[in-house]
Amino acid sequence: MNVAIILAGGIGSRMNLKDFPKQYLNVGGTPIIGYCLNTFQQHEEIDSIYIVADKTWEDFVRKWMSQNQINKFCGFVAPGESRQLSIYNALLAVEKEFQPEDNIIIHDAARPFVTKELLTVGLRELGSSEGVMPVLPAKDTFYQSDDRKVISALLPREKLFAGQAPEFFKLGKYVEIHKKMSKDEILKINGSSEIAYKSGLKVSLIAGEERNFKVTTPGDIELMKTFLGL
Ligand code: C5P
Repeated sequence: MNVAIILAGGIGSRMNLKDFPKQYLNVGGTPIIGYCLNTFQQHEEIDSIYIVADKTWEDFVRKWMSQNQINKFCGFVAPGESRQLSIYNALLAVEKEFQPEDNIIIHDAARPFVTKELLTVGLRELGSSEGVMPVLPAKDTFYQSDDRKVISALLPREKLFAGQAPEFFKLGKYVEIHKKMSKDEILKINGSSEIAYKSGLKVSLIAGEERNFKVTTPGDIELMKTFLGL
């Protein structure tokens, strides 16, 4: 079974929208979260969808889903203090209903343009790996600065990649590595694959997509409109 976890528990602080998290903004007649929900719903290999969302947004999302035939939805999960703690909450809910060998696909509600093809490739790759992450090769040259003032190290661009979501894992192994960590340790984790790598899981890279960007700043809404031809 393939279970999607859609993360919509953030408050979108970089968007400067008080009390209105970016994933619920209406762009082109659809709330941002709706774009990825449609893609996961339409993908033949996705069986179930869980959504991490604050209680105050459940009715809004439920209403939109019933109007848009999202019938793979299984339940809401309460957000955690950080993205990774939100994931952990979702894993604990999914674990009750599914088997350790089932696959989980973790996606950001704020990445509207994930494609069915990316989901297909990720699921296929997970057949021979313990984790899969889409990445884009670094285009710029990156420099390290220890004091944020002068260059302290040069980084090899050909070895640098920017991670995207969705990330794909085996449910059992991925839950286990969370259970072995303290809450404080999980709070320090920035990416879903970071915790997997740190815990010794083999995480494979697949080609990400430029259009699969995360809506983070007001400029990204304009980018979204450009992609939608608005
Ligand atoms: O803040 P950022 O844009 O990196 O968040 C990525 C995704 O994780 C967003 O869709 C956001 O709603 C979600 N998130 C979450 N719980 C948190 C923080 C972020 O579900 N505590």
